[in-house]
Amino acid sequence: MPLFDVVIVGGGPIGTAAARAAAEEGASVVLVERRDRIEGPSPCTGLVSLHALVALGASERSIVRRIRAVVLQGPNARAVLRAEVDKAVVVDRAALERELLERAVAAGVEVRLGTAAVGAEPGVLRVQADGETSEIAARVLVGADGPRSDLAAWLGLPHPKERLEAAQVEILAEEAEDTIEVFLGRSVAPGFFAWAVPAEPGRWRVGVAVPGAQDPDPFLESLVARRFPRGRVVSSMRAPIPIPPVTPIVGDGVLLVGDAAAHVKPWSGGGLYVGGVCARLAGRTAARAAREGDASRDRLASYEDACRRAVGGELRFGSAARALLHSMTDTALDAAVTALRDRELAAFLAREADIDHPSRILSRVAAHPRIWAGLYAVWAATRRADPPEPDSTQGDLSSQTIGPV
Ligand SMILES: Cc1cc2nc3c(=O)[nH]c(=O)nc-3n(C[C@H](O)[C@H](O)[C@H](O)COP(=O)(O)OP(=O)(O)OC[C@H]3O[C@@H](n4cnc5c(N)ncnc54)[C@H](O)[C@@H]3O)c2cc1C
Repeated sequence: MPLFDVVIVGGGPIGTAAARAAAEEGASVVLVERRDRIEGPSPCTGLVSLHALVALGASERSIVRRIRAVVLQGPNARAVLRAEVDKAVVVDRAALERELLERAVAAGVEVRLGTAAVGAEPGVLRVQADGETSEIAARVLVGADGPRSDLAAWLGLPHPKERLEAAQVEILAEEAEDTIEVFLGRSVAPGFFAWAVPAEPGRWRVGVAVPGAQDPDPFLESLVARRFPRGRVVSSMRAPIPIPPVTPIVGDGVLLVGDAAAHVKPWSGGGLYVGGVCARLAGRTAARAAREGDASRDRLASYEDACRRAVGGELRFGSAARALLHSMTDTALDAAVTALRDRELAAFLAREADIDHPSRILSRVAAHPRIWAGLYAVWAATRRADPPEPDSTQGDLSSQTIGPV
């Protein structure tokens, strides 16, 4: 049995980026992916920053749309934040994955599609392809097998304690330009939010995520009926979104990355930027540990520390933001959205907000005293309670369709 330095389980975007990083560090790398082909529709909206593409090592060729504005739709209030430059892009996720795989192969990774990992112990991965079971020996096993990581379970590493359940449809509907929509409120997405993101021409990705025990489907059906009454659903999917933290993400001869390690922004559920940053760290550490002949848990712990240094602060900030959102009543959501209609504040947030580093806004706020009063109004709004008999019914969202914003 040939011995590889690194075997990666999972050929999603993060496993592929980690595999490439390990190969570029000089390691012999094999990647196993149970899908036969990389094609959509994917359990992903594809909304990322350009920095996320850089972190993943991808070009801009999978971009299908550029985003400058967001409509925040509360239960009864609405605000628009519009920037003067692109703030995010929407990618064709399958095209992104194909590009990342091509680049991994070019870096020397042996990619085995149609190959499922079916068991593991330190140093050995059992795989099944075409009905045949075989073993792959590798000094380091990397679990990039998504939010329900089997590798984590086989090697005694934990799964995330908390997760969201997401449902998304692709809809053919009226063309939109550069604006995404975010829907808030207990009747829309209790405990999180719903979204409508324009993608390829005439095509939207519309989704809802709610905390684990709830079923997102009825919320999604209701949103689609109100916001896109004439839209045609062409695909639908369900998937979990893991919520950090998960620790430890390393063990003897194994490390986890991407959704398997809950490398996800807690406030948005986005995993491509955080996972992309950690994929490089995972690939490099795995390659170096294999070269040094030391794949012990103590040696691999430097990877977990590096992830904490790279993304830990933003994940903690994001967790606090999510907890605040979760605690807000419909009245508070409406009051906060209304407060965001302050022109100066809206312009400031649209200009300064960074979807990968939301905490950086704090230092920018300090330098802009003119928006302090507006920001205080938003903060005060977040604490508002619902009246005793709340009326949180929403109107027909299609009649509020965003025109030029
Ligand atoms: C509805 C929804 C919308 C989202 N939208 C966004 C967004 O707009 N922006 C963003 O940044 N993030 C978004 N995310 C999150 C993002 O999709 C994930 O963070 C990202 O896919 C994580 O990549 P990954 O490679 O770690 O895992 P995955 O993409 O889950 O890939 C895991 C891979 O492992 C393979 N695999 C699993 N088990 C085995 C096995 N035993 N053997 C072999 N292969 C195996 C799977 O087939 C899969 O290809 C969204 C998530 C959801 C659910």
